[in-house]
Amino acid sequence: MKKDMVQEEGLLQSSLILNRKGLNHGATGNLSCRGNDAFIITPSGINLENLDADAMVEVGINGDIIKSKNNHKPSSEWLFHRDIYASRDDINAIVHTHSVFSSTLSVLGESIPPFHYMIAVAGGDSIRCSEYALFGTQELSNNIIVAIKQRKACLISNHGMIAIGKDLNEATNIAIEVEHLAQVYVQAKMIGTPKLLNDRQMCEVIDKFKNYGEWRKD
Ligand code: 13P
Ligand code: ZN
Repeated sequence: MKKDMVQEEGLLQSSLILNRKGLNHGATGNLSCRGNDAFIITPSGINLENLDADAMVEVGINGDIIKSKNNHKPSSEWLFHRDIYASRDDINAIVHTHSVFSSTLSVLGESIPPFHYMIAVAGGDSIRCSEYALFGTQELSNNIIVAIKQRKACLISNHGMIAIGKDLNEATNIAIEVEHLAQVYVQAKMIGTPKLLNDRQMCEVIDKFKNYGEWRKD
């Protein structure tokens, strides 16, 4: 398999995992990975379950379409994918979902506080929620860049969530974990007031994650 097809196959497989786990449905959400002065992204408005790997679209950093079989358009959210790669050297893959519990919390427009130690998978003591803007706009991208600063995930107000990583495996795993955390947080709020961890406790976790499993920094 050619090198670029390896990335395209990875995008298809991660998309199918997210659909199978119920994090995305139909054509919702989108994924990308970094290339050379370019990125490869899922096509817009298409359920990937009906497609194969060569449906992915290659987009240059200036927005030019470099490769698109069957004239598929790149995801309508290519601007925030482009802007995250431009602002974060450590990031090579991006996953966006409309998963139910993250979307539920996103409509409150609030960050998820440190109610559980695994909040640290997103790189800090909270998972922020971006300001609302229309999907596919530069304004939405600008809002996301603020919310995801020094983090590997954020909610998008009245929309969904984003997870990012050094590769597709990490971004996909973080998305799955954030959705699990969102579910627990929604459920905890239904039966009481979640007890939050303090700054010292979260610093300890963030420190320990430097040498732990999938979330290890390298
Ligand atoms: P695309 O199909 O254009 O990627 O749009 C889906 C989406 O999630 C928009 O925010
Ligand atoms: Zn979306």
